[in-house]
Amino acid sequence: MLPTVDKAAMMTHFDSYTTRGVRYEPALNIALEAEQRRDFRPLLDGLTVGLSSGTSGHRGLFVLSATEQAAWAGTILARTLHGTISRGVRVAFFLRSNSNLYEQTGSFIRFRYFDLMMPLAEAIVALNQFQPTIVVGPPSLLALLATAQDRGASRIRPTRLISVAEVLEPEERAYIAATFGAPVHEIYQATEGLLAVSCAAGSLHVQEDIVRLQFEPLDGDEHGVAHWTPIITDLWRRTQPIIRYRLQDVLQLDDDPCACGSDWQVIKRIEGRRDDVCWFDTIGGGRRPFFPDSLRRAMLLASPAILDYRIVQHTDDTLRVHLSVPTEANAAKVIEAVRASLQATIATYGCRVPDIHIDTAFEPPPPGTKRRRVARLAC
Ligand SMILES: [Zn+2]
Repeated sequence: MLPTVDKAAMMTHFDSYTTRGVRYEPALNIALEAEQRRDFRPLLDGLTVGLSSGTSGHRGLFVLSATEQAAWAGTILARTLHGTISRGVRVAFFLRSNSNLYEQTGSFIRFRYFDLMMPLAEAIVALNQFQPTIVVGPPSLLALLATAQDRGASRIRPTRLISVAEVLEPEERAYIAATFGAPVHEIYQATEGLLAVSCAAGSLHVQEDIVRLQFEPLDGDEHGVAHWTPIITDLWRRTQPIIRYRLQDVLQLDDDPCACGSDWQVIKRIEGRRDDVCWFDTIGGGRRPFFPDSLRRAMLLASPAILDYRIVQHTDDTLRVHLSVPTEANAAKVIEAVRASLQATIATYGCRVPDIHIDTAFEPPPPGTKRRRVARLAC
């Protein structure tokens, strides 16, 4: 079997990782300039160049030929529309950065691209006018739209919402779906390829005719739930071949058959990244991982008053929690409830409870950056 590759290795040896003789420096310069000018049209020798929105470490640089780009756009459309292409489909696409990838239109489908940097109020005015039938965006944005819809500012009637780029939490999914009266599906993709798409029955299937995923088990099951990290081989990409490329994502798999009839592997949940897994010392002297979901669950159980939060672990024996609570709430009471809930969750697994510092100084992530509610930033 071929060895695995990761982003760091691919970026270090970028010049030898493309089949078209693309050099790292000129490609990076084009991609950076496009980000700065927010004009994503310039090509490099006819190739589309872009940067991935990695949250840590090396930035990922990708190159695609015009054919690969068209195949990608066509495939993603066909797979997300579930084969039912009818006139009058209007797709609103919210993305961190535009690239040539996302400006595609046809006579049946209208695409409108929205920059995530756009002020929300402006986006809502444009959406009310565009009246999308499908809205694609990170769940944090979809939730803001749902709140605007609740308040009456947003007046759209999508038949489907599609979550991309961030972890979709079950409670958020339920809220968005209830507000719009429409299902929330997912597209799981990396700059390394299109990986999985929700079927009509709502299951997130690996697109096995496009990509081959191998799953490596991660240590430390919780509640008997296994966690996996994917190694991907893209069967289509030729310009920048992706072969046994290790992603940093943490997944739960579902091996039950899907109601839609497809036997392509179902991903039950995308929990986050491997570097979002927190570690605590056990009473017995070892260490054990806490996957982001377990800490999210502890927060959910703590208090209904919490509007948003961020948990950051810098060292194994400390945890910092920044809360957003409404001004009318009793902040001291919420803080104590959060402390008790986290302590109980951590102790349940035989771990030493760390120092937990909690404040109400939550700051929302800047526009255009990925939300990470749980993050381990230990050196
Ligand atoms: Zn299915």
